Amino acid sequence: KNVSEPIVRVEKLEVNFDGFKAIRGLDFALSAGELRFLIGPNGAGKTTLLDVLCGKVKPSQGKVLFKGQTDLARHQEHQIAQLGIGRKFQAPSIFVTLTVQENLLLSMRQKRGLLSTLVAKTTPEQRERLHHYLEMIGLTDKAREKAGSLSHGEKQWLEIGMLLIQEPELLLLDEPAAGMTDSETEKTGELLHRISDKQTVVVVEHDMDFVRQFAKTVTVMHEGTVLCEGTMAEVQNDDRVAEVYLGR
Ligand code: ADP
Repeated sequence: KNVSEPIVRVEKLEVNFDGFKAIRGLDFALSAGELRFLIGPNGAGKTTLLDVLCGKVKPSQGKVLFKGQTDLARHQEHQIAQLGIGRKFQAPSIFVTLTVQENLLLSMRQKRGLLSTLVAKTTPEQRERLHHYLEMIGLTDKAREKAGSLSHGEKQWLEIGMLLIQEPELLLLDEPAAGMTDSETEKTGELLHRISDKQTVVVVEHDMDFVRQFAKTVTVMHEGTVLCEGTMAEVQNDDRVAEVYLGR
């Protein structure tokens, strides 16, 4: 992977919600293959930035360049998904009465836009892809179990798997370890690192223990803009970060 090639470049981004500026003059860049954590106090604009990157929210000003040329601000949400940007929302989107592997196959075929999503025959290439991602999310042993019988953590991994099997280049995750047990949280952190071997991942995270343990690079946001960026050690030593977190 080429870590020097920017996959996302956001310039002078502004997002208004009924006159309220949730994002104000934000510049942000992401290299391909990065695992980037977005942190910052509540209301800083982290979720809004993810919403802009997946096309759910339209900027009022600024550029959102994907791979240097495509301006995401000019595309609809479904087009952006087709371009290779996957977003996991907090509301679950798995089918609880289907098995783990059926959920994954469904998602894989959805991407292809086949009408006969459920009855289509699985090709050897698709089987291989299925097994690869089952392994990656650690659910190989549960492939034939109903998704509804999974633990909270396993359901989250299945959802991530459903995004991964569509092979997006950029994956956007909002608090992927929320509500998980300690061991599930640990596995989620490891999963994020495995994913970022091939794909670029942006994670919005409030759990600072999780960030300390798994983040290499963090972007600290505050009041709709980037306050600072760097390794966790670097940003923790930044006086401005202490100020916004302690509310001084
Ligand atoms: P964070 O994820 O960092 O907690 P958000 O991106 O959710 O912050 O929100 C940034 C600011 O924008 C907050 O003040 C929030 O209340 C406001 N906001 C977010 N979404 C909307 C919306 N749809 N309408 C109006 N205000 C919103």
